[in-house]
Amino acid sequence: MANKSPTSPLHRLLKIQPGLAPKWLSPRNSCEGFGLLDVLAATPLLAAIALGRRHGWGPGLLAAALYLPMAWLSERFNSAERWGRARRRRGECPSCGRAGIGAETPCECGQAA
Ligand SMILES: [Zn+2]
Repeated sequence: MANKSPTSPLHRLLKIQPGLAPKWLSPRNSCEGFGLLDVLAATPLLAAIALGRRHGWGPGLLAAALYLPMAWLSERFNSAERWGRARRRRGECPSCGRAGIGAETPCECGQAA
């Protein structure tokens, strides 16, 4: 687990380094409010409730089914963010976890700190 790469499918898709996502996308804690990712993940759930009330269970269940992959992606992203921020604080490479990496000492794995 120590050398587990903290990246996620969304990090690769958006080309964001773990720990460097903007606050509006993934807030550091709940005091900073909702991030765009939280809102996107909750949207299918809200749509399911709205559709379910208006059009019955069929469309409602379809929207609810969309919620699970969205919540999974969002959780993977936020988890990778926490990993990346922790590694930067400890002076470790955010990608491979090697110690003693900073702005002046790039890591051998090729990732900038
Ligand atoms: Zn590295």
